[in-house]
Amino acid sequence: MRRAIYPGSFDPTTNGHLDVIERAVKLFDEVIVAVAANSQKRALFTVDERLDLLRRTTAERGINVIVSQLDGLLVEKARARGAVAIVRGLRAVSDFEFEFQMALMNRKLVAEVETIFLMPKEEYTYLSSRIVKEIARLGGDVSAFVPDCVAAALREKFASDGTGGHAPA
Ligand code: ADP
Repeated sequence: MRRAIYPGSFDPTTNGHLDVIERAVKLFDEVIVAVAANSQKRALFTVDERLDLLRRTTAERGINVIVSQLDGLLVEKARARGAVAIVRGLRAVSDFEFEFQMALMNRKLVAEVETIFLMPKEEYTYLSSRIVKEIARLGGDVSAFVPDCVAAALREKFASDGTGGHAPA
């Protein structure tokens, strides 16, 4: 049984994430998609909302993955779940430096878990959760970039006051 873990913020899930997940499930017997709960980044969606959107969108597409919350250190979860690999997506050179540092640090922490990088379809290389949120916040159409239920969730978040619940103090 070869198991991989794909960690991220998934705030929210985009077609780019799903592209990486689809590639990963072809390579491994089991893929755990782990939603980071204690990321430094301020999230628009709660962890439960992010888990729910990931579960719904993967189920809709018939992608068989385990979606779970990541609370502590990624490498510890990888080790506890017996994962042989950490999967990350690489979009552009700009991702490289940070990802390289993370991969080498994770290897220092747990030598037996490899980090592998998967490249999405070209059309998703410019796609990020951050840019999707920005477009949605400004009332733009994000339906080409995210699954329908994510587009609906974004509309709902920004419908009330346009701040997505993060109104300035
Ligand atoms: P994080 O906060 O860990 O970067 P993200 O949800 O932004 O969380 O990304 C999780 C992983 O998915 C990262 O490896 C990121 O590079 C990758 N990723 C995000 N968007 C895309 C995309 N459009 N194509 C390929 N990989 C992506």
